[in-house]
Amino acid sequence: MIDLKQNVKYVKGVGPNKVKLLNKLNIYSLKDLITYYPRDYEDRSIITKLEDVKDGEKYTIEGIALTEVNVRYAGKYKSFAKLIIKDDTDNCVVTWFNQPYVKDKIKRGEKYRFYGKISKKNGNIELISPTFDNVNDTKNTGKIIPIYPLTNSLTQNGIRAIIENGLKMIDGEIQETLPEKYIKEYKLLDINTATNKIHFPGNFEEFEKARIRLAFDELLSMQLGLLALRNENQVEVRGIKYDSKIEMSDVINNLPFKLTNAQLKVLEEINSDMEKDRPMNRLLQGDVGSGKTIVSMVAAYKAAKSGYQVAVLAPTMILAKQHLKNYKNILEQYGIVCEALVGGMTAKNKKEVLEKVANGEVDILIGTHALLEENVIFKNLGLVITDEQHRFGVKQRAKIVAKGNNPDVLVMTATPIPRTLALILYGDLDISIIDELPPNRKKVETYAVSKQYEERVNNFVKKEVENGRQAYIVCPLVEESEDDETSNLKAVTELYEKYKNEVFKEYKIKYLHGKMKSKEKDEIMEKFKNGEIQILLSTTVIEVGVDVPNASVMVIENAERFGLAQLHQLRGRVGRGEYASYCILKYNGGSDIVRQRMEIMTKTDNGFTIAEKDLQLRGSGEFFGTKQHGMPEFKIANLFKDMNLLKEVQALAIQITNNDPNLEKVENKPLKIMVKENFSSKAEMTI
Ligand code: ADP
Ligand code: MG
Repeated sequence: MIDLKQNVKYVKGVGPNKVKLLNKLNIYSLKDLITYYPRDYEDRSIITKLEDVKDGEKYTIEGIALTEVNVRYAGKYKSFAKLIIKDDTDNCVVTWFNQPYVKDKIKRGEKYRFYGKISKKNGNIELISPTFDNVNDTKNTGKIIPIYPLTNSLTQNGIRAIIENGLKMIDGEIQETLPEKYIKEYKLLDINTATNKIHFPGNFEEFEKARIRLAFDELLSMQLGLLALRNENQVEVRGIKYDSKIEMSDVINNLPFKLTNAQLKVLEEINSDMEKDRPMNRLLQGDVGSGKTIVSMVAAYKAAKSGYQVAVLAPTMILAKQHLKNYKNILEQYGIVCEALVGGMTAKNKKEVLEKVANGEVDILIGTHALLEENVIFKNLGLVITDEQHRFGVKQRAKIVAKGNNPDVLVMTATPIPRTLALILYGDLDISIIDELPPNRKKVETYAVSKQYEERVNNFVKKEVENGRQAYIVCPLVEESEDDETSNLKAVTELYEKYKNEVFKEYKIKYLHGKMKSKEKDEIMEKFKNGEIQILLSTTVIEVGVDVPNASVMVIENAERFGLAQLHQLRGRVGRGEYASYCILKYNGGSDIVRQRMEIMTKTDNGFTIAEKDLQLRGSGEFFGTKQHGMPEFKIANLFKDMNLLKEVQALAIQITNNDPNLEKVENKPLKIMVKENFSSKAEMTI
């Protein structure tokens, strides 16, 4: 068996320079190389006659060279090579720029196969810089060619050759990852064939078979991994049995508003979990603004009143602070002590809070990732609440849970995942859904506009502000890498200068950015909340949870760069008060897909519908692919397309786990390795 972990430099044709380029693509090992899957395929096997070609399209043409290749130089490095070819329907001029060496590869009178873009003007056909083979070869043409996701460091031909060499070196010696009986039962390709065919399929049927086999592995790893986690959670663990005499209704009846039926139903489920001695592990899903926070407070009330401590984990400091305020508002009157722990506190302050938490004086501790640190010790942690669960990885949840003695866990998310998917993805959690918004919620009027409406949008913002409202303007992350807040900063500051000094110079405008000091961020947020700032320009740090009811406009710059789920989250920042509210999506680029996506946003305000449409339009890869969602990223599987496969795989995973919970049987050994390699890294996924 071949060692797939070996350095990619041992592959033929990979010298020191190529190693560097490959590393840039995150390819370090032989395994990384062969699992660097094509993003698309070009079918160069279909030969088109010259009489059938259309301007601007790419074709494979077979033709005889009527001339020698004629090279003309224009300066030292510039050259044009020209050749005339013919097939039995027409003639065609072939042109190459700066590739004088083609002259030596083509002989007059011989037949070649070309693949490239056609330009057709006044009946004259030209083939521009095609790749080509001798008609008996199929190196670059005459078959299905994989197209890899590349930055500009490597060429398609370059990486294709390297991957080809990698596969040759492996020569069918990849250790099989699935037990033989499942390969038979599910009629799958073996791992070696699948790996070869995903790169170099002979036809699209072969490709699909290869894709299914590899997707099967990915999905099975995830399902087995999730089930293992779930079993860990469930093995006869005795949790806390909360006092049934502490009635949630005591706090519910005393709230400033009436809870919706959906909120009440969900609270019943939570209450029943809390009164059982098995630890609660519940996912609370509800669209933006459905009122998850209040639900978590009622659960926290029950825990605190029963004599236990509660940890509330929030993804951003802004949100943690906001929660603290809300929790205090509702719960302090019952003698429940709430505190927050966030980055940027003074050492003294922090120490005080930590002491009070350790000796039990604090009932509810709200905080960011800071809560996960080792020095945070609870006296009696009984309930863990994580807000916007999609921002936390499974491992992080485990970390906070370990601070208690089998505490109950409630994770909340607004990520609107269709229910079936949620059940499957969150295989380790029970699910409650708030499927109803509080009454009197205003629908947020949504408009998608292109650049030419800029001035009207600005005037509209001004008008709202003059009426006493406030506005958000949100810019996207600029770079591909979403962690790169630095380049992001530049975009925001540039726009800020323009808005502050020109467009909105009569108004109080500030900007907010993830890289700012926490104190600064707090101050700005505070000022926005109490109305001292009228327009807040921001990156997506305000995406989750922020609640400023007086804000009535959300303008989103470059809306085409956001996922629909994210746009929906952002839109959820307005329409939270009594005022009519608006979301304006400024978009560039007019591709059909962009327009369709904008239309979904303007026509739909239901997060679940949006999620489903987004999935249909883009496939789950992109929908779940961003780190934003903390969802498993699959290289091959497509959660939308592969829904049926996912169901089959889930059933299989349950069967396997029931028979062999720890995958200890000899036949399951490969599975154990696969789960370890594929799943644990995903479980660590964070914000
Ligand atoms: P999300 O589910 O997005 O976290 P929040 O919990 O922030 O939503 O709730 C949004 C707003 O709705 C808050 O201002 C909250 O006080 C209010 N709210 C929650 N439940 C109700 C209700 N049943 N009736 C009226 N307002 C409610
Ligand atoms: Mg919330």
